[in-house]
Order: sequence, then structure tokens, then C-alpha cells
Amino acid sequence: LFVEQDLAEGQGVMVEGNAAHYLGKVMRKGVGDPVLLFNGRDGEWLATIAEAGKKRLALALDRQTKEQEMTPDVTLAFAPIKKGRIEFLVEKAVELGADRLQPVIMNRSVVDKINLDKMRAYIVEAAEQCGRTSVAEIAEPMKLDAFLKVREPSVPLYFCDEEGGTPAPEAYGPPPATILVGPEGGFTDEERAAIRAAPGATAISLGPRILRAETASLAALATYMARTDW
Ligand code: SAM
Repeated sequence: LFVEQDLAEGQGVMVEGNAAHYLGKVMRKGVGDPVLLFNGRDGEWLATIAEAGKKRLALALDRQTKEQEMTPDVTLAFAPIKKGRIEFLVEKAVELGADRLQPVIMNRSVVDKINLDKMRAYIVEAAEQCGRTSVAEIAEPMKLDAFLKVREPSVPLYFCDEEGGTPAPEAYGPPPATILVGPEGGFTDEERAAIRAAPGATAISLGPRILRAETASLAALATYMARTDW
């Protein structure tokens, strides 16, 4: 369960609101039951429910069960996609270990607004589900030209190009890394030219078929994360 509070030896944690409802009513946990907690900073902790009220639960921390994980410094920059598919993309990107999600608005984007609170809730849920102790960040959407301007030029930019490039597994180098995926309608010629001209950019291919934007994002991330030598 995700909590905001610091987690440390001897500390008590109060759980309220949706989290208390989830533990008490959905999971039917009560006094004496164990619960695993994380806050994105202090690893994972085993806690025991010490008091259970209608709206709040008091938990006592027993011991740390996982050190804080170090995820590779990998950003997925992607054009926002339609409702239903973006939730899937965010959830799977978290499972695959992305550290940061950067929505980038492009000319052929069909969506230019994102409910960041909802996305953050999906990120936390996905982290809970897959046992991550870190919580991926999601940034405010920005336009492609702004993204190209503010990005750190020393961080390699692997740009997924449906028109072809170096096969992803051959192109990738150690973190940090940014993977950029285009919108449903693909990149325009001007966008492709601007991205190719950016320092540290490499066009990568994910195979001969045109993948959906979310498939491309996840294939590119999975291929990167499958490397165990960094
Ligand atoms: N129209 C489909 C959709 O609705 O999702 C396909 C969209 S495809 C043009 C979206 C993006 O996925 C592309 O801009 C590119 O970044 C990436 N992509 C798709 N297939 C790819 C491939 N074979 N290699 C590299 N990138 C690919």
C-alpha cells in the first residue's frame, strides 16, 4: 500500500480516506493483520494494523522488507493517446520500470490534455501491483519543440521511427536514456527532421510492422529493460 509518510524504525503510520476504505472494507483487514507499505523513498516495510476505526487505521511498522530500489534513469516521452489506451500504456510502462513519463504534444496528436491526477493514481496502483518501491514521475505535457529545447543534450534520445532506424537492441546504450514515441498519426516530416537533428538522437526501429503508439512504447521500453548488463 502506498503512503505519503516517512517509513522508519519504530514509526506509526495513520491511513485514512481511500486507502483506509481499501484496507478495511475491500481487503477486510483488521487489528493484527500485516500490511506492506511503501512511499517511493524508503523501500518496503512490513506493518501491523494496531487500531482499526471506521475511517482510519493506525499501523505500527515492524521491519523493512525491501531496500529502496534503484530504477535505471529512463524517461518515456510519448504523444498522449486516447482514453482507455493511455491508462494501459502508463500501467505497463510503470511495470517495465520507467522512471519518468513525459507526455509530448505533436502535430498529429489526437489528444493534448491529460488528467495527471488520474495518471498518478494509475502509477501508484501499478507500482503496488508489481512490487516497485519507487513511484514513476509524470510531467505536465509539453510541445515537441519545447521538449527538444529543455531536454538534457547529453542524455541519449532513442527516437522510435516507423520509417526505420537502427534495430533497438543494437542502438541502446547504458542509462540515462530517453525513449521518444510518436502519436497515432505518426511524426510529420518536419518533426522527424527536428528530432533527428537533436544532439544525441538516434532513430530506432522496432521491426517491420507499424505498431500502435502504446505497443511501440512498451516494445521499446521492454527491449531496453531486458538488458541486465546495466
Ligand atoms: N495508427 C497507429 C495507432 O493508432 O497507434 C500507429 C501509430 S505509429 C505511427 C505511432 C508511433 O509508434 C510512431 O510515430 C513511432 O514512434 C512508433 N512506431 C510504430 N511502429 C514502429 C516501428 N516499427 N519502429 C519504430 N517505431 C515505431
